[in-house]
Amino acid sequence: MGESGVVETLGWAAQDKSGHLAPFKFTRRATGPHDVKMKVTYCGICHSDLHQIRNDWRGSVFPMVPGHEVVGVVKEVGSEVDDFKVGQLIGVGCMVHSCHSCESCDNGLEQFCPKVVWTYNSVDTDGTPTYGGYSGELVCNRKFVLRMPENLPPDAAAPLLCAGITVYSPMKHFGMTEKGKSFGLVGLGGLGHMAVKFAKAFGLKVTIFSTSPAKEKEARGILGADEFILSTDKEKMKAAEKTIDYIIDTVSAVHTLDDYLALLKTNGKIILVGVPESPLQLSPTSVIFGRRFVGGSLIGGVAETQEMLDFCGKNNITCMIEKIPMSYVNTAMERLQKNDVKYRFVIDIENTLTSE
Ligand code: NAP
Ligand code: ZN
Ligand code: ZN
Repeated sequence: MGESGVVETLGWAAQDKSGHLAPFKFTRRATGPHDVKMKVTYCGICHSDLHQIRNDWRGSVFPMVPGHEVVGVVKEVGSEVDDFKVGQLIGVGCMVHSCHSCESCDNGLEQFCPKVVWTYNSVDTDGTPTYGGYSGELVCNRKFVLRMPENLPPDAAAPLLCAGITVYSPMKHFGMTEKGKSFGLVGLGGLGHMAVKFAKAFGLKVTIFSTSPAKEKEARGILGADEFILSTDKEKMKAAEKTIDYIIDTVSAVHTLDDYLALLKTNGKIILVGVPESPLQLSPTSVIFGRRFVGGSLIGGVAETQEMLDFCGKNNITCMIEKIPMSYVNTAMERLQKNDVKYRFVIDIENTLTSE
């Protein structure tokens, strides 16, 4: 398939840190020899999109077209691309470029490359801003294009591209896969519910620590959690102390780490993936007694993301989503802020992207 020129694309952008999203026209670069052009069909709404449109992390550049859980079909491939075909179902996650010659890239950890280009709110190699998946089309170097499993519904698979890999990667890297071990999940949101699904697939005993009583029934019933503990229930939290081997903490707001460290057995680990807007407090004694470990993790590399997608295809793992039209996006952001979604909003871009 040949390479065509620059195209005007419709997206929805925030113009300032009010975070209000509205139609916005911009151009996508011509499909280069190593590029794939995608017609976007679905895009998940990650809590990071909300942090970024509201400048929570203080690095936002406007106008900003968010979206890094992007699923679609190949519309065109560059002359050097021979492993993707027009019409194929593909995905793009949080990254669109890296150097491919540094130690991180050599180790399949493109997310730590000093030259990584994020899917949006980043500067592309040609100096132009990157714009994300709340848009009709996306052009991406083929090295960052993922094959979506054909057996999974693409809307429910879209959030795997960030929410899925962000919990899968630390679970694999930190050895949270030993059958029968006790796994704790803090914060049952988009990332959290995927961690529960992976933990069950790995054969772990799962305890969810949540602030939302309304999530208990589904957490036990549909997600199959073995225990559900309200973090506000002091007695139950006390009784759960020193019972958990490892925890993933996905909480998007400031919270106390010591309460969760107390849950860990000796040598237990807690891995932080949530990114609250301010630092968290931690008492050294909470880690000293019990030789506990606090770590962190950022999405996952390209090869591992493909491995995770293939794992989900094989094990029929998808996300629980609420599909919304583009025009609902600002309401969805308000609801996400209020912790009112089970468990991921996904925008039906293909059928509902409008210029008003
Ligand atoms: P989400 O769907 O909003 O889930 C966050 C969960 O945290 C909520 O469902 C809620 O769970 C809990 N929570 C929210 N406010 C809380 C509060 N004030 N106190 C205690 N718990 C609270 O968000 P998400 O999309 O999963 O993202 C979670 C965080 O991870 C965000 O900060 C996001 O930016 C970050 N993130 C990081 C990476 C990475 O690579 N490290 C990648 C993607 C996202 P309960 O109702 O169960 O309490
Ligand atoms: Zn994300
Ligand atoms: Zn690199």
